[in-house]
Amino acid sequence: METRWLYTTSESFPALVEASAKVCAIPMGCVEKHGLHLPLGTDILKGSKVTHMASQLETVCVFPDFTFGDVPGGPASPAGSISVPVEMEMALLEQLCDQIGRNGFEKIVICNSHGGNKPWLNTFLRNLMNRKKPYTVCVAGVNIKWAPHGMAELLLEKGRGCIPELSPEDEQLLLSYHEAGMKGGHACMGETALIMGFAPESVHLDRLGIESGLSTHEADYLTDAGIQILNGGWDVNFPNAYAGHDPVGCNERIGRAALRLASEQLAHAFKVLKTDENMLRWHANFQKGW
Ligand SMILES: [Zn+2]
Repeated sequence: METRWLYTTSESFPALVEASAKVCAIPMGCVEKHGLHLPLGTDILKGSKVTHMASQLETVCVFPDFTFGDVPGGPASPAGSISVPVEMEMALLEQLCDQIGRNGFEKIVICNSHGGNKPWLNTFLRNLMNRKKPYTVCVAGVNIKWAPHGMAELLLEKGRGCIPELSPEDEQLLLSYHEAGMKGGHACMGETALIMGFAPESVHLDRLGIESGLSTHEADYLTDAGIQILNGGWDVNFPNAYAGHDPVGCNERIGRAALRLASEQLAHAFKVLKTDENMLRWHANFQKGW
């Protein structure tokens, strides 16, 4: 069925609320540089795509994209990035959750696709818990580790051929990257695959090799001394907004497999959430005092 809020009519909306077991998903990302080879919208684009695909496997209503996230916004930040104060994002998100609640949903799951949103989302959940809300909110991630490691582990466990999208050469590539301990995290093989799965024209593999995705380790001495600076020093260690070995050889087949696996994983989270009875009970108990 049509699961997207914006594509549903007012008349058919109650049926969507019911089919969703009162669960509504908000895709969340950010707009920031992703190396030289991936688009600025990588996080919200892949978050939105995977959330929609997952909702087709396990029906939940999909709210319009929450596009913006916590990214560096200083004068030196890369061209095209968009930084909005987190206080404003929290205020907007709360208002949107109130509207989702007013429209009949009891469980809201934020499908976060940008690592930099994790700290403020936890604060957001705490703030909501301290207020009286008739709904509960939680966060589910969009897994970017399917390429190469998740898929390689599947191949090793279940044997070649278990991921039908892949050619024998793709299997070999993923296994060799896995064996070599390919690093990732940002604009890496995993993220590149997810974008390649549905927007290959937005991926520019010919730009690989120009800027490095390897850590400079500049801020490691602070971490080693038990000192935490912003993002654990990530922005210092990865000045190119790129963390990972170059995803040479990534292709649309690997991308389609990564998209399917990430969607199935998120759909499982939706399923658990739809039948869960504890979250609302804990929420109510907390609000009236244990
Ligand atoms: Zn990203």
